[in-house]
Amino acid sequence: MALLEIIKYGNPILRQEAKAIKEINNEIKTLASDMIQTMQAAEGIGLAAPQVAQSIALVVVDVGLISEGEKPVAFINPKVLAAEGELVMEEGCLSVPDVREEVVRPEKIHVTYQTIDGKTIDTWYDGLLARVLQHEVDHLKGIFFVDRISTIKKKRIKRELKRIAHDELERIYQAA
Ligand SMILES: [Zn+2]
Repeated sequence: MALLEIIKYGNPILRQEAKAIKEINNEIKTLASDMIQTMQAAEGIGLAAPQVAQSIALVVVDVGLISEGEKPVAFINPKVLAAEGELVMEEGCLSVPDVREEVVRPEKIHVTYQTIDGKTIDTWYDGLLARVLQHEVDHLKGIFFVDRISTIKKKRIKRELKRIAHDELERIYQAA
């Protein structure tokens, strides 16, 4: 197990469309468990593979926060097929540190995904799990939660976003 580096807003990888996973091999399983460890160390409740610089359709969610006693779970190739209702909730993101904003999203979602054991799940979620999954599935499409807030709100955090992107690009160039 290893802690992975979480890349930040401004990193071009986070704007790419993630590729579907064709085979759940050991590499994917290791990545999923590393992502769970990384998410927990960062005190997050969800993490998408692009956030650790892997542009593939894998997300992990700490479902223990949603149903007590359950371990974090990997969702492979998650897709939102349908949605119902509307709910305002405050969101944050490990790739957009120190920014929290209210986001309007559907309340319930119909999703399909594969488990780490390759089982296909087809179900509806609501509550916090629906919220976290929508946020993470957005990451697989290159979308940030700050793309879903009003123009007025986005103006208010413009400087903050610029600072995060600037620091991230500086870090990339220093690493290169
Ligand atoms: Zn996020």
